[in-house]
Amino acid sequence: MTEEDAIISDALNHASIIDGVRLCKAQRYRYANADMADLEEQLKAAQKNRFRIIVTDGVFSMDGNVCPLDKIYELANKYDAMVMVDESHSAGVVGKTGRGVTERYNLRGKIEILTGTLGKAFGGAMGGFTTGKKEIIDMLRQRSRPYLFSNSMAPGLVAAGIRMFEMMSETNTLQDKLHENTDYFLRRMKEEGFDCKPSESAICAVMIYDAAKSQQYAAKMQEEGIFVTGFYYPVVPKGQARIRVQISAAHEHEHLDKCIEAFKKVRKEIEG
Ligand SMILES: *Cc1c(COP(=O)(O)O)cnc(C)c1O
Repeated sequence: MTEEDAIISDALNHASIIDGVRLCKAQRYRYANADMADLEEQLKAAQKNRFRIIVTDGVFSMDGNVCPLDKIYELANKYDAMVMVDESHSAGVVGKTGRGVTERYNLRGKIEILTGTLGKAFGGAMGGFTTGKKEIIDMLRQRSRPYLFSNSMAPGLVAAGIRMFEMMSETNTLQDKLHENTDYFLRRMKEEGFDCKPSESAICAVMIYDAAKSQQYAAKMQEEGIFVTGFYYPVVPKGQARIRVQISAAHEHEHLDKCIEAFKKVRKEIEG
């Protein structure tokens, strides 16, 4: 992308995308999170540019919501734009077999660029990947500076990553279990009166709203042996502080129950 081109980016995109946009000379357009009317306005404004690319997270890491890729794809076709999806929080998680938001919306093979990390659902190792149209990948091999000018991934991590992709194709048990675990956790938390954002991913946002309180919750949860993170402004909007819980296929119901009991105990201590 050069000065002639346009990058149209969701306002809640991950910091690495924001930095990527800054490093590139293309013109920047921003639309409110998952707001398709705003995206359309930005696409109209960017019609003067040579090429356009819409960039979005697959799953937004603070709320756990999935991007409306079906509508993004429609708008991209209507306004002659490419699409790039960062699947870091959706790869391995979203879609029946964990192939990400393109599986969820039946758009496999239709999106120009997909990126992801090996560091989340895929086992917590380092490294990541870019996949997409062959012409784009061929060009990245010559032009992507972080790819060309840094050391490559350690061979052991590459081997583990390849094996992980094979394992995903052998059985769907881990994906099924993750989906079941997430549904169970959210349903039980709701029954206990907690305010959780709807999630289609492994991220469950338990809303606390007050920043100071969210830190108390997180600290007390850790004392109960539960590793959760409190997020508050500026990581999330003011007055939207929350505890982020990440569910795994390695959890059994007893673990999830322990977490829910800890939330109840901590709530009692803090709220009285
Ligand atoms: C976590 C995350 C990254 C960074 O992945 P690393 O492997 O830690 O570099 C990039 N994009 C999104 C959307 C993420 O959630």
